[in-house]
Order: sequence, then C-alpha cells, then structure tokens
Amino acid sequence: MTLSRRDFMSGLALGAAATTAAGARAVPEIEAAQPLRAPRRPLIVAAGNGFPYLEEAYGFLRDGGDSLEAALRVVRGPEDDPEDDSVGLGGLPNEEGVVELDACCMHGPTRRAGAVGGVRNIRSVARLAREVMLHTAHVMLVGEGAERFAVARGFQRENLLTDASRRTWLLWKEAHSDWWGPGLADPAWRERFRGSPRTDGGSPPAARLRALAAGLGIPPAQQDAAIDRVLRPPTGTVHCSALAANGDVSGCTTTSGLAWKLPGRLGDSPIIGAGCYCDPDVGSAGATGSGEENIKIVGAHTILENMRRGMTPLEAGMDVLRRIAHHYGGAQERLQFLDITYYVLRKDGAYAGVSMWTGYEPGRPHTIAVHDGSRRLEKTTSLFEGASAYWPPTVAPGRDQT
Ligand code: ASP
Repeated sequence: MTLSRRDFMSGLALGAAATTAAGARAVPEIEAAQPLRAPRRPLIVAAGNGFPYLEEAYGFLRDGGDSLEAALRVVRGPEDDPEDDSVGLGGLPNEEGVVELDACCMHGPTRRAGAVGGVRNIRSVARLAREVMLHTAHVMLVGEGAERFAVARGFQRENLLTDASRRTWLLWKEAHSDWWGPGLADPAWRERFRGSPRTDGGSPPAARLRALAAGLGIPPAQQDAAIDRVLRPPTGTVHCSALAANGDVSGCTTTSGLAWKLPGRLGDSPIIGAGCYCDPDVGSAGATGSGEENIKIVGAHTILENMRRGMTPLEAGMDVLRRIAHHYGGAQERLQFLDITYYVLRKDGAYAGVSMWTGYEPGRPHTIAVHDGSRRLEKTTSLFEGASAYWPPTVAPGRDQT
C-alpha cells in the first residue's frame, strides 16, 4: 500500500501509517460533521494526523494536566513519526534538500506565546516554541538563532532528512533541473532526454519519472507516492487545540511546510494569529493548508474575533473561508488551487472543522480529529463541494505518455 501525504491529511490512512502510537492503530470510520453536538469539556481537537495520539493526551488533560502540554503531546506524535513527511523527522525538505521546520504555541492560562521558524536539525519544534515562550523575553526565534537556542536548552541536533525523503527530493531535483542526474556522457543519455520538459510543455512525463525513481533506488511500492510529491508539491501540518475541564485552553501548530520551498520561506504555521491563536476568554483555533492565503487573512485570530462577537465556531470559520474566496472575487477556477482547513474550539466546548473544499481528492474528505470522551474523526464542513487541485497544475502520474 502506498500512502500519499494527502492520506495523512485526510486521516484515512492513519491506522496503517502511525507506527508510534501504541494501541491506536485502528483505521476509524470518518463520521459526519456534528455542528449541533452538545459542548463537552475536556475536549481536544486536532488535524487528522493527530488522531492516533489523542487518547493519551486526553487522559492527561482529564487528569488535570496542563492544556498546552496536552496539545504538545498530540503534535509530538507526527513530529516523531518518520512516515509522516509533513512534520518533524522525515518532513519533506526545501529546494536545497534541507528540512526546515516551523511551529508556534499559545498558552491560554498565562496568555503567553512562542514561535520558531525555519529551524534546521531540531525535531520537536512545537516544544521549542514553548521553550521560547518560557525561557526568553521574546515571542519568535528563527533560523540559526533558533537552532542555537534549542541546543542551549538541551535539544539534540539531528539529521531530519530520512532516506525516503532524500530520495524523493532527488527525484524532484532530477525531474526539474538540467544539471542533476545523468549527463550527456551517460550511456542512457537518450532516455534522459526523452520527453524532457523542453519538449513536453514543462511537465516531466510519468514514465520518465518512474525511470528516474527506479534509478534512485526508490522501491516500486513507493514510486507512485514519490512521483506524486514531485508533480504536486504537497503541504502538511498538524494543529491541536486543547480545552481543560476548568476552561483552560491552549493550542499549537507544527509543520515542515511546503515541500521544495525556497530556503527561508515561512508559511502560516509559525505566525501567531495565522497558524494558531488562543484567547482564554474565547477559545483556540488553528490551520493547515495554503499558508500564504492564511497569513493574509490572519485566519486563526479572525476566527476568534468572530466568536468573540457571538458567532458559533462553524459560522466563525466559514466567514473566514468566504473572505478568502472574496479575495479572488469568488472565482472557483482560481480558488480550486487553494485549500485551507480550520480547527475551531470555543471555550464552552463547542467546536467545528471547516475547509475550503471537501477534500484534496475525491472520496478523501478533510477531517478534524476530536476527543471529548469519545475519540473520532469527523468530516469538515466545506465552503465548496469537490476536491481542490494542486498548485502548480501538472500532469498526474499515469495520465501522460512519453
Ligand atoms: N500551512 C502550512 C504551510 O503553509 C502547510 C500545510 O498546512 O499544509 O507551511
């Protein structure tokens, strides 16, 4: 079975992919959205890839544990999982083959925040964001300074690029660069130039990619997933918001960001107010998906302000999605290339998961993972029916010819 990162995002492959969450292997049925469910506390909501890690964190929260610590326990799962290539160890790297991670957190009870961006060689960046919050007079550290701070605080430097992610990155390099891969002197030079981007309208044919993947030693069972990532650079992230029985609320978001990004690119995940926002008087919200769009609408903060003015979690999230659509005049031929999911939690225990589109692929809905005494994956409520499209638009594997 090959798993795409979109499987992680949809939550459909969680059981098969989560290798580090003891006792949480079962693939759950995805339930319908439950916007009218009676609010309950404690409550944890997360992105779908947080699902396997909810049980332990919920028990911790129910037993009186701190709400931010509970949220950090959830996102630590995907950060530690080398199979989840959207976060932490094994995250897909930037265009130079270097994994750069972003994260932020907010602790409601103390009204504090911490964030880190573009961090190399440190796996647990959500916890590193908490260290910034606890042990500096700042809110955000980036790049080399953040890495040095991490080491000073006792974090281990390590290579976050797994062999699988490295090979996928090499495939992307060879598919898009003139100078990576075999050259003119190579005995297989004809193969190399057959269907090159110059003669194929810019889209490397799937057959050529398959040959390159085989040459790079990518196992046959993983070639489809690797080619998919090359043709359709994925994003991926995990957000978690946690609400304690006494009303304490916190949130955090962590990511490896957009695959093959420009070195130094930050998305929304480390931006307080965009990737995550928490106000102890209102609740907490976070985002996954098209980071640049979310930064422009400061999505998580806008959602909390909507709720402060009386909107329900569902109304608050849908309003922000409508405003993003308005930025494009509602033009679906452009909006199809955007997709954002918001995870919204109100202080009384009401919650909602909302997304721009039904899912990244037909039959694979966006989900919100929830634990309020029962653990479940629910479909989000979407602004538009149907699947979003990947940017940049390219030929899907198998649909072209050499
Ligand atoms: N929002 C993240 C970013 O833009 C990626 C994602 O959530 O898919 O970096």
